[in-house]
Amino acid sequence: MSTAGFNSQNGTGQAYANGPSQNPVGLQPLPGVSYGMTHQPTYNPMQAKAPATTGTGLYPSGPYQPVHPVSPYQPGPTLSSYPAPSGQSLLTRPLIGGPPSHTPPQSSSPGPRLPPAQATPPPPAVSSSSYYPNPQQPQPMAPAWQYSTAPPPMGQPTSMSVPPRGLVPNNVNPAASSTPPPAPYSSAPSAHVSHSVTQTPGPGMPSTSLHGYTQPGPAPPPMTHTAPHAYQSSRAPYGSPPTGPPPTMKPTPPHTGSLMINATPPPPKADGTVAGNGQQAPNSYNHVDNKMAGLPQHGPPGRHLGHYPSLPPGYQNTSATHNAGPPMHPAMQAATQPYTQAPQTYQQPPGGPGPAQLSPSLAALSLQSSTPEALRVVNLLQERNLLPPSPMPAPTPCLPQDLQKINCNPEVFRSTLTSIPQTQSLLNKAKMPLGLLLHPFKDLSQLPVVTSSTIVRCRSCRTYINPFVSFLDQRRWKCNLCYRVNDVPEEFMYNPVSRSYGEPHKRPEVQNATIEFIAPSEYMLRPPQPAVYLFILDVSHNAVETGYLHVFCQSLLDNINALPGDSRTKVGFITFDSTIHFYNLQEGLSQPQMLIVSDIEDIFLPTPDSLLVNLNECKEIVQDLLKSLPNLFEKTMETQSALGSALQAAFKLLSPTGGRMSIFQTQLPNLGVGALQSREDPNQRASAKDIQHLSPATDFYKKLALDCSGQQVAVDLFLLSSQYCDLASLGCISRYSAGSVYYYPSYHHQHNPAQVECFQKDLKRYLTRKIGFEAVMRIRCTKGLSIHTFHGNFFVRSTDLLSLPNVNPDAGFAVQMSIEENLVDMQVVSFQAALLYTSSKGERRIRVHTLCLPVVNSLSDIFAGADVQAITGLLACMAVDRSTTASLSDARDAMTNAAIDSLTSFRQSVLTIQQPGLLAPACLRLFPLFILALLKQKAFRTGTSTRLDDRLFAMCQLKYQPLVYALLMIHPALYRVDDLSDEGALNINDRTIPQPRVLQLSVEKLSREAAFLMDAGTVMYLWIGRNCHPNFLTQVLGVPNYAAVPDNLYLLPELDTAESQRTRAFIGWLRDQRPFFPSLHVIRDESQLKPTFMQNMIEDRTESALSYYEFLLHLQQQISK
Ligand SMILES: [Zn+2]
Repeated sequence: MSTAGFNSQNGTGQAYANGPSQNPVGLQPLPGVSYGMTHQPTYNPMQAKAPATTGTGLYPSGPYQPVHPVSPYQPGPTLSSYPAPSGQSLLTRPLIGGPPSHTPPQSSSPGPRLPPAQATPPPPAVSSSSYYPNPQQPQPMAPAWQYSTAPPPMGQPTSMSVPPRGLVPNNVNPAASSTPPPAPYSSAPSAHVSHSVTQTPGPGMPSTSLHGYTQPGPAPPPMTHTAPHAYQSSRAPYGSPPTGPPPTMKPTPPHTGSLMINATPPPPKADGTVAGNGQQAPNSYNHVDNKMAGLPQHGPPGRHLGHYPSLPPGYQNTSATHNAGPPMHPAMQAATQPYTQAPQTYQQPPGGPGPAQLSPSLAALSLQSSTPEALRVVNLLQERNLLPPSPMPAPTPCLPQDLQKINCNPEVFRSTLTSIPQTQSLLNKAKMPLGLLLHPFKDLSQLPVVTSSTIVRCRSCRTYINPFVSFLDQRRWKCNLCYRVNDVPEEFMYNPVSRSYGEPHKRPEVQNATIEFIAPSEYMLRPPQPAVYLFILDVSHNAVETGYLHVFCQSLLDNINALPGDSRTKVGFITFDSTIHFYNLQEGLSQPQMLIVSDIEDIFLPTPDSLLVNLNECKEIVQDLLKSLPNLFEKTMETQSALGSALQAAFKLLSPTGGRMSIFQTQLPNLGVGALQSREDPNQRASAKDIQHLSPATDFYKKLALDCSGQQVAVDLFLLSSQYCDLASLGCISRYSAGSVYYYPSYHHQHNPAQVECFQKDLKRYLTRKIGFEAVMRIRCTKGLSIHTFHGNFFVRSTDLLSLPNVNPDAGFAVQMSIEENLVDMQVVSFQAALLYTSSKGERRIRVHTLCLPVVNSLSDIFAGADVQAITGLLACMAVDRSTTASLSDARDAMTNAAIDSLTSFRQSVLTIQQPGLLAPACLRLFPLFILALLKQKAFRTGTSTRLDDRLFAMCQLKYQPLVYALLMIHPALYRVDDLSDEGALNINDRTIPQPRVLQLSVEKLSREAAFLMDAGTVMYLWIGRNCHPNFLTQVLGVPNYAAVPDNLYLLPELDTAESQRTRAFIGWLRDQRPFFPSLHVIRDESQLKPTFMQNMIEDRTESALSYYEFLLHLQQQISK
């Protein structure tokens, strides 16, 4: 098996920067080679016990090695004629002569189920070979002095030994701590802060002259000046101008004066005008950030956090507004309501006035005195009903209430360990992975948006000011990531919310853990790009057969006015089979003009200027095309697919601007560059051995994706196919360009109506959802912590910077972290994700999320803060990497070991009294179940017939989906729905939503007399028992009896009965909580999908997999070894 192609996951390997020049920042060192201070070995549950030869472990470190393609760039037949697809009467078809001057391409069946649990477990399905034989994990605890260039000078003299976080009572605003959220920002009508629907731009600021001052000292390369601390002498929206004397500043050079406010692009800057070949397109790379970077002028800041200043105490106690930023969608809010039984949350009872008591309250964490619920010992072999009755909320970090109130929403930013170990060795002992899970661009119902010419950031590490910084006094604040003391800019002294002066700690930036800035011109190196959408459509015989073209064209027609964008929005279309068809849509043409290029080996753009057109100006002709396109290829007999060439053409078309490519593909590309061959052996689908061909067959798609990334182009792939399409290879095009993959196996307009509905709904969401262009995301963390592996779809630009040509609100990310320096002096650490993007309206925006977590120094505290869902989600990502860099069996072993190791550690290091049984802390009681669920998940299962593309798609989803949706894919939720009642129901917008309890995934829980709904995230199953009560059949399904339930039922009839309304309300509510559309399948005993449904009964034994109980016995055996 060739694994090289995935050795460097997501481009942590050597970059294929555009053209021959490679981006040095993308280089990844060889294993064991030290490369500075950011990378240290860390505990790696998947790697630890694996034989050294099997791979590099969870996070890859080898340089990217191109795989020799199976069919590398094989020349396809070059057609010399221009065969006309039949039925193209509508379009004119000028012959294209020999290629004009052009440039060469830029870059080179489910198994039967047995009855559950028998007395004798089969041999363990997991290898028990020596894992973790050597705790040889290098001790990465760097001595604290290692990086210190100076003794940690405190920002304050020792007299500052006041307890941290403003012990002094809040005399600035004594009532604040008990006041609910600060007045809504809208109460300051003229202010530049607004709570707005995320799509809405903040109120514009008139352009004013910007008086910054130049920072002396050496600068990062592109830096011309820094202007983070700008003083604005007149700012009308603030009301009265600040009265204090302006700080000492020098005026900025005049050219920085223009603020980016409206959609009109400012004149391009000299250094960022052309997105040339071999060059990075500007606006989203390091230098944007570096350019902004000020340099430390004073001595390096101390690492100590111990001293929180006493001045001004106000901000901490101003009771925070919404819980961690934006309130949740009502549905999600409900979904995360705490459950009553065995709460996951470990909450220290508030021991005083909050932050003022940070130190004592954290000290009270000591668990000797009382055992929190999270550490309650559970004997898994005895306690059967461990599932909470409703979806689990995220555990709450053990922080003083006032800090926690303003902390980031866990749906946006979440850590596997809500208490961060003080040292790497402590983390290694706990045997749990440390990482973050992010959903950074999530649709938020409310988002504070700030328009300001001065975005206050740390001059040393560039952290954005946030709720967890401390103010030494009114004029100075201390960074919570690097501890540098910074000045408060004059402008920041004025609070637009309260319209008061001198309360910088009450600014929205320090009151909200999630906030968005409209960026001033310093944040762009070229005018923000317009929204550009290019659609690339497979029109081969196979594609036309599926009927998808009708759905696509209709959907785009329906939503064409809802495409995010402004007056500059551009669209274009390319269709392809064995040739590439372009469409001249120029204004003034009476109808679209089709241009065919048959020289697919050497693709060129026939009329480069008229293929991407302004949507507003050319809407009619675009609509004409969409109406005629489905019929245009109706009778085509062309079966070949030159996808690679079509992509190259699309890349050429989009390179100058950047934008979004949407590919619709229905078969294996088999012609020209990027051609693929079938690698799937259907006889191996049920293999219990290792699965082959999880890695790409060619590096063509990855290379092209990296080229795209360099030009700010993201590629989204819609795969609609009943055949093998080699998603392992094709998926790279989206993975490295920050695109999305959609997959509709067996799509057919007649045979698979459920898929059609799903495709329609997905398209609507896809076409209309928010989009950010030319984005980068940087994740910073408190000094001492470091990030080393990213999961998701993107290209890693540098150690902490992800390149995201597009960002969409449905994308999730995960990162693994290690502890580089002991965090002994710290009580809390912070993480900040900053997403810089261009909105579809052409605004440069920055969305910032900051998460604060306590630091602990005992294993029991670490365990008490474990977030089993986040751990599972991160392990799933790690296991996907492991499957491709090593093997599937390695990944499976590693997941099992993760459970064994953490429970062993708990038993050995935390439990004081040894008891028999398989013991877990309550917070990890579901860990073995989730691991077993992962082993049985489509991505990782063995011994059950699984199509290769299905498996690959599941792997994509696990890495790309936000945690909450990935968890449903891993462990579906099962509900009994034939007896729904209003008892305990939610009431949302006058709708009553029944809340049945979540059941264990075991046939024990099923009953022939009932009906059950299984919510598996992207798909739902409604299972009808053979003797289901007739009332349910008639009142909900509208059929007289069981035999009359149709085979292909995927829509519940809208009956005017209470039962029907309740059932539909519940299913609709579940659907409303996710951005994609889960299809619904009604299942009877005879249904083809019944085995699929039954396979999700994770707790039961199958021919090829252990039951939950057997799995527990296996774990126990390993732990007691
Ligand atoms: Zn800093």
